[in-house]
Parts: sequence; structure tokens; C-alpha cells
Amino acid sequence: MSEKIEVVAKNCNFGEGPHWEDTTQCLYYVDVYTNDVHRYNAVTGEDSRLNLGESMASIIIPRQNGGFVVTQKSDIVILDSWDSGKVTSFAKVEADANILNDGKVDASGRLWIGSCFFGDGDLDVDNWPKYQGSLYNVDTDGSVKKHLSDITIGNGMDWSDDNSVMYFNDSIPGQVYAFDFDITAGAISNRRTVANFRSTEIPDKGVPDGMTVDTDGKLWVACFEGGKVVRLDPETGKVIRTVKFPCERITSCCFGGKDFTDLYVTSTAPPQLEKTPFAGSLFKVTGLGVRGRKANTFAG
Ligand code: CA
Repeated sequence: MSEKIEVVAKNCNFGEGPHWEDTTQCLYYVDVYTNDVHRYNAVTGEDSRLNLGESMASIIIPRQNGGFVVTQKSDIVILDSWDSGKVTSFAKVEADANILNDGKVDASGRLWIGSCFFGDGDLDVDNWPKYQGSLYNVDTDGSVKKHLSDITIGNGMDWSDDNSVMYFNDSIPGQVYAFDFDITAGAISNRRTVANFRSTEIPDKGVPDGMTVDTDGKLWVACFEGGKVVRLDPETGKVIRTVKFPCERITSCCFGGKDFTDLYVTSTAPPQLEKTPFAGSLFKVTGLGVRGRKANTFAG
């Protein structure tokens, strides 16, 4: 089956953190360095944005109690509603030297989020300060627990359908990791490498950024500076499908649409450069012949 790629919105610079809300058929995502959060309405085709001030938002995920959980630099905040734009503190995760990066909610409603060194978005793989990031979970009461402290740029966690495995990328060493996942305790163990993007077996893929898991249990990994999303088999670590895009810095992806058969893909340009024609676009890929799952919402 052949896919079709289209640009559905071109309204941001550094797109990241896509989350599909099935009840509204809207895709929420962020524009990291302009501090905007975005809502793309797939029914009307409208892409609207909301500025949150000096936020460095990296995620926007709906809450089960209304509104959204959002990051502001190293803090977790609650956005009361899209219409109000009102933000209140929820949890302080880390000192201000780092910023929070990619995050997702597990099936029990906990938020998992990685931190990283506060760079300018111009990823220098060889010179980026190593092991300054961590992986945390933020519980529904705002309590914070650190799980890993040797991460450089954590990205793209997602879970197997039975919640027995958590997948998580550390972009700079190019590692796609799997962990045993205990959903009751909110614990991870037994880290192993699923795929190493630095190996010659996966050439020209850039670094692994955001990621989502399909209903077949395969990983769709955004390849920053690789201009691709690859479908990985976590059992073998092999790339089993490649979808190419007309810009190099592909940041993240998630499934959406009525049947979760459309893949939404965010992108960016280097911040110091003029925008290239497609960089910053929100892409929609149809006709992949696979489907994703409903994304979890925050219980806190
Ligand atoms: Ca990312």
C-alpha cells in the first residue's frame, strides 16, 4: 500500500509533541521556541495557536478533569482551558538549568517526561553536553519521581499494548530503548537497546526523536535530521518501512483521524536559519494501511 503525504498546517517554527484528541478530532502540538501551543482541527482544517508567554512548551496533553497539562521550561503547569489561556503551577520537576522535553501519559494516567540541557535547538550531536538529562514521572497528585539520570535528550516514550514494555529514545547516543514496565507501581527496569541509530545497519536516519506505537506493536520513530519516519520492529530492531518527508528535521509523530489510520508528523527548521519551504509543517500521512491507538490523558 502506498502512502500519501500532505501539509495540513504550516503555522509554526519548531513543531513538537503531537497529541490526537479523538473526541474532538483535533491534534494538539507545540511550537517550542515561540512558546505557542497549537490546535489543528481536522474537521474544519483550522490551525489555531495560543501563546503561553515565556513557556518553552514541549508538550500539551489533555487532562481527564478538563484543560491540559503543559510544560513551562522545567515546570509542569495546568492550562485551564484553550479559551481562557489561564496557566497555574502543578509541579516543579527540575532546576532551571535544564528544560523538560518530550512526555506522554501512561495507561494509568501518570505523566512521563524527560529533561535535557537547555540548548538553542541547533542540535550538535557530537558536542551536546552528555548525560545531563533525566527521566521522571509526575503522578496525579503532582509528586515527582526520577527513574533515570543518565539521559542526554530523552524523547518519544510509548508503551506496548499490554503495558508490559515502555519504549524510550535517547536521541544523542541514538538509542531506542525498551524497559520492562510495571503499570501498577509506575516502575521501569531491565533496560535494553531495541535499535542503535549510530550503527551502520540504520544509515542516514539522523537521531531518534518522537515515537508512537501502532496496533501491530511496531514503533514509528521520527528521524531528526533524517527526513524520515521509520517503522521499527522492536523484536528484531530492523527498519521495516520508511516514509520520507521534504524536510530533514522531523520531530515527532502520532496517529489520528477517525480510525487512527492517519499519521500526523511535526517538523522544524534550525532556529538560526530562514525557514526552508517545508520545515515547520504539520504533515498528515494517509494510506499507510496501519493504525494507531487512542492516546492517554492525564489523570492529575
Ligand atoms: Ca522531541
